[in-house]
Amino acid sequence: MLEDHYISFEIGKTKNIALVAHDGKKKEMVEWCERNKEILKGHFLCGTGTTSRLIAEKTGLPVRAYNSGPLGGDQQIGAKIVEGQIDFMIFLWDPLEAQPHDPDVKALLRIAVVYDIPIANNLATADFMLHSKYMDTTYKRKIMNYDRTIQERVEKMKE
Ligand code: PGA
Repeated sequence: MLEDHYISFEIGKTKNIALVAHDGKKKEMVEWCERNKEILKGHFLCGTGTTSRLIAEKTGLPVRAYNSGPLGGDQQIGAKIVEGQIDFMIFLWDPLEAQPHDPDVKALLRIAVVYDIPIANNLATADFMLHSKYMDTTYKRKIMNYDRTIQERVEKMKE
């Protein structure tokens, strides 16, 4: 029964990782990427504009850059999660600084939860995630079967 309400999507052995860091967290992000370069090399990396360029320049890792966060980069990454093209995210948001694009930040965090992708918001979680046994295997994430939910709602509204 529960199965019907969810659809499984596979996270492959090679992860599609999004890297996003607010200004106050960019240094931490670059250092973390440098420390974990050997592991990160084996995956596809992308991120918001400034974060991506900084990582690429400082570590030499290839990182596909979307727009800068405040200019819609967070929304682009959210859209890629919806399309199934991003399935893992390190998002170091700054808890001590107000952001002009706060609604986009919330939207990205929300969509990551809806699509059941692993998401780290601090370095400790990022370390645990990167050293998880699932980094070397596939993993089935579970997404609510909205087609079914919509059909059930339609049936109910017709009553
Ligand atoms: P940036 O965007 O990498 O272009 O600075 C990050 C963000 O604020 O979401």
